[in-house]
Amino acid sequence: MIHGHSHGVVDPGIASTERGMWAVRWSFAGLLLTALAQMAVVGLSGSVALLADTIHNVGDAATAIPLYIAFWFARRRPSARFTYGYGRVEDLAGLAVVALILFSALVAGYQAIDRLLHPQPVAWLGAVAAAGIVGFLGNEAVAVFRIRVGREIHSAALVADGYHARVDGLTSLAVVLGAAGVWLGFPLADPIVGLAITALIFGILWQSARSVFARMLDGVEPELLDEIGHVASHVPGVQGLANLRARWVGHRLHAEADLIVDPDLPVREAAVLAARVREAALTHMPALDSLRLALADSDATVTRTAAGHHHGHHGHGHSHAHRH
Ligand SMILES: [Zn+2]
Repeated sequence: MIHGHSHGVVDPGIASTERGMWAVRWSFAGLLLTALAQMAVVGLSGSVALLADTIHNVGDAATAIPLYIAFWFARRRPSARFTYGYGRVEDLAGLAVVALILFSALVAGYQAIDRLLHPQPVAWLGAVAAAGIVGFLGNEAVAVFRIRVGREIHSAALVADGYHARVDGLTSLAVVLGAAGVWLGFPLADPIVGLAITALIFGILWQSARSVFARMLDGVEPELLDEIGHVASHVPGVQGLANLRARWVGHRLHAEADLIVDPDLPVREAAVLAARVREAALTHMPALDSLRLALADSDATVTRTAAGHHHGHHGHGHSHAHRH
């Protein structure tokens, strides 16, 4: 997964654990509450800096939506036509979130530029500053919560999301700065802060679109393939995996590979090894939904194993395609 500041994709490692989903739910509630409180002041004051910050917080909260739509669809069983189930609805929902961020970034940018060209007084300056502080506190609370739960469930992604919320909290403080500027007699401070936050939202848009489109194009994190190879290399009797491939269907990973074993091994014993590899991989990787293994041709080479775990069968300089 492309980490950084992206909205619209929840890390599968978080989505695959009960406690992770619980954290997603409470983060959503916290950010939504923060954004709603800010929204009321946006209407009262006409501050475009606060508008941009509110849009950002709504976008952050909205990240949980694709996941929930996906969970709702995931309850439906695969059908004769949709044989992999409906997990990819999550990608479509992610795309909808990206479209929403694009639209709201355009609105925030337009409003800020309009206000720069046609300055208007900002009312309720105290309330604007207070709303900025609410944004800071709301995000900081979510940050502390995510980092704590993330460490507890050993999810680096959730901890990273926590730091993301912390940065968002600092963004909200910029709104306070804008309000202070206006109060000190510099009315353009508000649209300037609004424009800066809009630029940040466009950055988020770019990162979110990259993650969502990578998913739609069957992009997968190479580390996940390394992890499967690593698990397989620890099963005694297994020489490695060839033609390892994986793709996400929603937040579930589906993988396939050719199992390389001693060519003289009876098929029955090879099947036992395959079952062991599969079980080890499924236990080790909570997001892994299926690992289909076929027996490799006897001259197959290991195309992918974890670093430091290259056992034999390596360095032939070619990879052998599986015959059908
Ligand atoms: Zn954010």
